[in-house]
Amino acid sequence: MKRLLGTLFGKISIIFLLLIFFLGLIQMLVSVQSSMDFVCESDQRINQDLAANLAGKFAPFLNDSLDHEAIRAMIHELMVMNPTVEIYLLHEDGTLLGFFGDSTNIVHKKVAVEPIHTFLNRDEKQRFPIMGVDPRSYVKKKIFSAERIRFNRNQEGFLYVIIGGELYDSILSSLRGSYILSTSFIAILVTLVFGAIVGLILFFFLTKRLHKMTDVVQEFEEGSFSKRIPVGSGDDVGRLALAFNNMAERIEENVKTLKKNDKERRDFIANISHDLRSPLASIQGYLETIIMKDAQLSTDERRKFMDTMYHNVTNLNHLVHQLFELSKLDSMESKPDFEAFSIGELVQDVVLKYKPQAEKKKINLETKIPLQLPLIIGDIGMIDRVLSNLVDNALRYTGNGGHVRVEVQPRSDHVCVHISDTGPGIPAEDLPHIFDRFYRVDKSRSRRSGGTGIGLTIVKRILNAHDTTITAESEVGMGTTFSFALKIQ
Ligand code: ADP
Repeated sequence: MKRLLGTLFGKISIIFLLLIFFLGLIQMLVSVQSSMDFVCESDQRINQDLAANLAGKFAPFLNDSLDHEAIRAMIHELMVMNPTVEIYLLHEDGTLLGFFGDSTNIVHKKVAVEPIHTFLNRDEKQRFPIMGVDPRSYVKKKIFSAERIRFNRNQEGFLYVIIGGELYDSILSSLRGSYILSTSFIAILVTLVFGAIVGLILFFFLTKRLHKMTDVVQEFEEGSFSKRIPVGSGDDVGRLALAFNNMAERIEENVKTLKKNDKERRDFIANISHDLRSPLASIQGYLETIIMKDAQLSTDERRKFMDTMYHNVTNLNHLVHQLFELSKLDSMESKPDFEAFSIGELVQDVVLKYKPQAEKKKINLETKIPLQLPLIIGDIGMIDRVLSNLVDNALRYTGNGGHVRVEVQPRSDHVCVHISDTGPGIPAEDLPHIFDRFYRVDKSRSRRSGGTGIGLTIVKRILNAHDTTITAESEVGMGTTFSFALKIQ
């Protein structure tokens, strides 16, 4: 029982059965009451003229003064003939003037006259039964018939006939044996039992769906994130299953993202360690050589060592700087400080900055900027960083004597910037990954040239913070073009 009550099925079933039991009980009580009302109603309707018919018999004893003895004898005679009636003679205020039998049985010496008036003033619409006071009973009211009478010449009164005095009392017992009533009781019982069985079966199937859901949720909780509940119908349970499935979908995605982030974090640390260790090991090696062989080293050798160490320190500094910037962008600490500025002027400044580097490699670094350009909205420092990274990459990866071109094109509500070079290009399989952290196409070459694999990641993050993105088109051996758009003021 305790186990049953612990389940939803058990609780619903017990509540349902109790409900059915009480409803059945109420329905039975209503049936008994309405049967009794029906019996009383038809009995009173049939006997409604009884008092009027009997009134004539009393008339001779009422004219001058009440002949109590004769009245008693008449009542006695009538009651012997029809034992199911009780006859009373009442004053118009309801006081008992004449009755039959022992006065000790009489508990009301005066009866209420309102029901009698209602009875006498009845019309077709009058509803039966009209219940009147039974002089022989404290609580029970009974059906009656009544008629106006005159006595002592000008006094008014009533002939009051309680119909079926004992009949009413025996109705209940007779109902017990009533065929109609017992049949309707059986019908009610069958309906209730049938309802209970069907209800329990329905609850069983309904809660079975919930059991299935619980199983799936438990499996999910234990780590089977791919588990889903079959939705079935669109009812409340179906909607709950759907809501769970959607939630499970999101949790599964989040878990995947967490795992991916975790892997990225580990790769990130491994990459940083590697990128820091190599130049540091190189610097340490050269320093040890200088310390140990100081006297034996020629000026040229020392100069060469110093140059290499300087190169390594520069690379390290660049890496640390890039990492710092990326971490700031990751934590959204550096949010864009939006302002309107001229992208044409900014491109000119960046290109000017990289002119010496281009000249060193005899690269033709050119710009194509229309004279009339609208101002764009963005963080000038961040866009400077984007342009610098892209131009720097283009110059680093393009061979001597190549071309690098920065082009600005105004559109209806934005300005497009394209940075194209005649470098080695990026293989199609690498193209989707170049914006990932630490992704380098040619690992060793990129490292040697001071590449960190972070530059393009920073570019993408900055442009994302500006609600825009960057695209790259490339053909191996022909060159690469990076493009992005910025909103105009
Ligand atoms: P890195 O510091 O290594 O240049 P980036 O994130 O800037 O890192 O670039 C990622 C990779 O994309 C580079 O290692 C390089 O292989 C490739 N790449 C970027 N720009 C160019 C370009 N203009 N031409 C050819 N390859 C490029």
